[in-house]
Amino acid sequence: MHNILLTPGDGIGPEVMDATQRVLGWYGQNRNFGYTLEEGLIGGTAFEKTGRSDPDDTIEKAKKADAVLFGAVGGPQWDSLPFAQKPERGLLRLRKDLELFANLRPALCFDALKDASSLKPEIVSGLDILIVRELTGGVYFGEPKETTTLPDGQKRAVDTQVYTTSEIARIARVAFELARLRGNRVASAEKSNVMVTGVLWREVVSKVHKEEFPDVQLAHVLADNCAMQLVRNPKQYDVIVTDNLFGDVLSDEAAQLTGSIGMLPSASLGAKINGKQAALYEPIHGSAPDIAGKGLANPIASILSFAMCLRYSFGRVEDAVLLEKAVERVLADGYRTGDIMQPGMNQVGTTAMTDAILKALAKLSA
Ligand code: NAD
Repeated sequence: MHNILLTPGDGIGPEVMDATQRVLGWYGQNRNFGYTLEEGLIGGTAFEKTGRSDPDDTIEKAKKADAVLFGAVGGPQWDSLPFAQKPERGLLRLRKDLELFANLRPALCFDALKDASSLKPEIVSGLDILIVRELTGGVYFGEPKETTTLPDGQKRAVDTQVYTTSEIARIARVAFELARLRGNRVASAEKSNVMVTGVLWREVVSKVHKEEFPDVQLAHVLADNCAMQLVRNPKQYDVIVTDNLFGDVLSDEAAQLTGSIGMLPSASLGAKINGKQAALYEPIHGSAPDIAGKGLANPIASILSFAMCLRYSFGRVEDAVLLEKAVERVLADGYRTGDIMQPGMNQVGTTAMTDAILKALAKLSA
């Protein structure tokens, strides 16, 4: 029995989560997928009901769950709250308390959407890369992190890039292990030409590779070159592993290769302790306040996040592939939400898109 926590959150979060829950239900009924569901408040909605955007109750439920399916948080009505109460605190606390150090973002280009990319179709057609970003270290967390005023009145701001051997080794292992399940190639991106953290990064990745994963092909690439290669010839990559800052930028760049933000899932994983690994799955998009409550949201990113959950938390690779194929089929049949609409296609809302995916699942598994 798999224990799943749903945290729908704000804006379109509950809408895409409802869609995902219908898909979960389908797997329960048709694929022998046993699960229990709990729900947790998070973000602005949690703030309204409990006075906190990161209620302890939700964090405790998340720690006990086998996987968390997260919707989205945020909205203009909470923009003026103090930093410590903002909806985003809910997500940041989940990441921190569950020690989710590995962020996995696939950039997969569905054939039916190859014309939606800003790059030429032949460059993105068939694209399937996975960015593995270190999520809990590096320059976003390093100390000192401060702004001071100098004697001459200027201000001086400092962020500090810090990495330890163990932090680098554990994210490298995640990347190598995932590469073995895919194309067996890893590109490690850093700036070892100008940063000492980059030198250490390269050394540790090479050592982990040599000692534990000699069967996987490893290439080192400077992060700026990697950014350039991603728009020049992205298909040369299989898995890219990189630090928190470069990963933030490179994964957004890779996301754009595939067309729409409404299509992209992600996973954040923690360490495996006694066989149990904390995991949170979420679409990369936000709460989209401009379309919230209108039934227009594209549920695919959230539904594909559940496919990642099937693959990484529950080892159900066949079920994950089935769901990805169902999405592919629906797109090939011309179903489009507004964000991915193209001339001559059939524009639908959240519910009709989900109906079509459920129908495709039934057909493909018949
Ligand atoms: P956003 O991703 O919410 O929206 C950007 C644009 O993409 C909007 O026009 C929106 O309508 C569209 N869009 C996003 N997801 C879509 C979907 N599934 N279907 C169709 N269209 C979709 O980003 P934003 O507008 O910068 O931020 C809105 C709020 O979300 C802010 O409060 C921000 O802080 C928050 N946010 C939360 C997360 C998260 O929860 N992980 C991530 C990013 C932003």
